[in-house]
Amino acid sequence: MELADKKTKLDKIADSILNRRIDIEIAKTCTNPVPGEGNPNAKIVFIGEAPGAQEDKLGRPFVGASGKFLDEMLSSIGLERSDVFITNIVKFRPPGNRDPRPDEIKACLPWLVKQLRVIDPAVVVFLGRHSMNVFFPELKISEAHGQPLKRRVKTDGQAAFEATFLPLYHPAAALYNGSMRQTLMEDFAKIPALLELIK
Ligand code: URA
Repeated sequence: MELADKKTKLDKIADSILNRRIDIEIAKTCTNPVPGEGNPNAKIVFIGEAPGAQEDKLGRPFVGASGKFLDEMLSSIGLERSDVFITNIVKFRPPGNRDPRPDEIKACLPWLVKQLRVIDPAVVVFLGRHSMNVFFPELKISEAHGQPLKRRVKTDGQAAFEATFLPLYHPAAALYNGSMRQTLMEDFAKIPALLELIK
């Protein structure tokens, strides 16, 4: 698909999110929906869990403390946010930073799958177990982190999607935990070789 086409399609998806075309409570209670952002031609897409307070305030993904850490890790492998696409499973902030509920994940999933199918990245990175478990419910993040999986996935009646999936610990969980932080940074450092392999 041409870049302009991708952009138009992603804008249309974002429009539907920004206009809160969904029937769940958090779409009404949040301040700003957070559709996700980045390069429509990205070779790599990062999927977090749901917007936090800072993201809700600005309508942009990963702009708080964990976002700063994500930016640092991206720069450590020579990437900027404008090279990649960053989004979340759930596009609206659950109140009080609670985990998103299964019905909220299910309701937001068609948007995420559409985003993935338009961008068509070679690598999809899960930031944390919640996003990993949407596509791979059987995996445990403590065992699966840092191990790429080349798969064609079809989840919850959505259209199929094929990529190399890399589960990572969530930056917010790793931020203040020395050993998890180290592991996350080591796992993150595997991304360039993965992209090289796929070229
Ligand atoms: N944590 C997430 O999972 N997503 C964000 O956008 C911010 C923090």
